[in-house]
Amino acid sequence: MRVRVVVVGCGFGGVEVAGELRKRAAARGKRKELELEVLMLDRRARFEYLAALPEILSGKVTGGEISADLSRFAAKIGAEFVNEEVVNINFAAKTVETKGKRAEAGEGVGEGVGEGVGEGVGRQIPYDFLVLSVGAEQTFFGIPGAEERSHSVNSLKGAVETKNALDRLKLKGSKKVRVVVVGAGLTGVEVAGELVDYFEGVAAEIFLVEAAPRILPAFPSANLARRVAKFLSGRGVEILTGEEAQEVSEKEVTFRDGSKRHYDLLLWTAGVKPNRLLERLELQKEKGWLKVDSCLRVAGGRVKNVFAVGDAVWFERGGLRSGQNVEEAERQGRVAAANIVRAVRGRGKGGRKGGGEKLKPYKPKNTTQNPRAFISLGGDKAVIFFRGLAFGVVAYRLKKFVERRYLRRFK
Ligand SMILES: Cc1cc2nc3c(=O)[nH]c(=O)nc-3n(C[C@H](O)[C@H](O)[C@H](O)COP(=O)(O)OP(=O)(O)OC[C@H]3O[C@@H](n4cnc5c(N)ncnc54)[C@H](O)[C@@H]3O)c2cc1C
Repeated sequence: MRVRVVVVGCGFGGVEVAGELRKRAAARGKRKELELEVLMLDRRARFEYLAALPEILSGKVTGGEISADLSRFAAKIGAEFVNEEVVNINFAAKTVETKGKRAEAGEGVGEGVGEGVGEGVGRQIPYDFLVLSVGAEQTFFGIPGAEERSHSVNSLKGAVETKNALDRLKLKGSKKVRVVVVGAGLTGVEVAGELVDYFEGVAAEIFLVEAAPRILPAFPSANLARRVAKFLSGRGVEILTGEEAQEVSEKEVTFRDGSKRHYDLLLWTAGVKPNRLLERLELQKEKGWLKVDSCLRVAGGRVKNVFAVGDAVWFERGGLRSGQNVEEAERQGRVAAANIVRAVRGRGKGGRKGGGEKLKPYKPKNTTQNPRAFISLGGDKAVIFFRGLAFGVVAYRLKKFVERRYLRRFK
């Protein structure tokens, strides 16, 4: 039996789903039980290792080193890749609608999928099973001027543009440069550390601004926050907590208490919101995130054979909620793939009523209640937050080892 699985969004979650499906299909294929056709869809042509983006700023890594061609990866695992943005999904007809692409001939366009293939023409791509792994987006909380005037490191493009803007400032060299980083979560902290490395030997002021009373507010450990703040302050970063940005003008950020801070470059790392595609989908949601059942199937009316993983998902079990991090996206990806295979196996061959084997429930590990992370701090140091703290060069080397090992799958 031939089954087509369409994976929408090929970041950490989607790549894991596709890889795991191929692995499982190959294993079962020998027993002629299952023939899986995997179609990967992404609006980007390249996978981006987001956790390393702050290091683009200091020049420790290049875009080429921390990204990888998705069509090559798809070919390697025997899948197909389509480089287009998904704009809607028709759950009744079981089709995914793409925006189409003004692509150069053949660029990222797979053969034989759906109809209406052509320049800039959207198309309907059919699926038997669908996985939504579209991630999250930056939010600016509706703060006037924030989106238009700030730089970001949320994507490779954003990080490279920010680095170019920093280079231009450095080249001017006339006065002390002032960079304000808004948001002192994991990314803001990493960005501040990389900025210190970037400006080594150059007169610069780096402000790290956080609305919460302390940095790293998503981490329950005040000790972690204290030690990281001490480390960054020791490297010259000025940390301002309890400061909520309210407006951004061309050269100043205004805070809720009316105080203002001048900037030469503003970097926004505060907050994420659900991917805009989710707004269009009539599915059950929690604060805009996709609700899934214990086996990672999206919840909602008559929607069938649709799974969701990663940042896009709101998953709770036993009072614990999956965090929005790489570990959860990957683990969910593997379980969703396993569940698709289970659901398919036995369909029409006397399997369970409604098709397939019993699905495997997902158990979150890296939760919002008990988060764990590698946080790089610049100066070739990092902190590992996992059952206590490990600070220093070894933690940084371990983080880089994990990164290299991950990226090897694309070679
Ligand atoms: C700067 C930065 C640093 C981070 N550092 C860490 C860290 O150190 N540790 C950690 O655990 N986590 C970190 N994270 C979070 C981590 O990257 C995410 O939790 C993880 O990427 C989630 O995986 P995902 O597959 O859900 O989404 P993503 O990896 O974001 O992938 C989503 C994919 O969907 C595609 N897509 C979106 N919409 C559409 C559409 N409509 N059509 C087609 N394609 C679409 C996107 O192009 C993207 O490729 C960081 C995030 C950022 C931005």
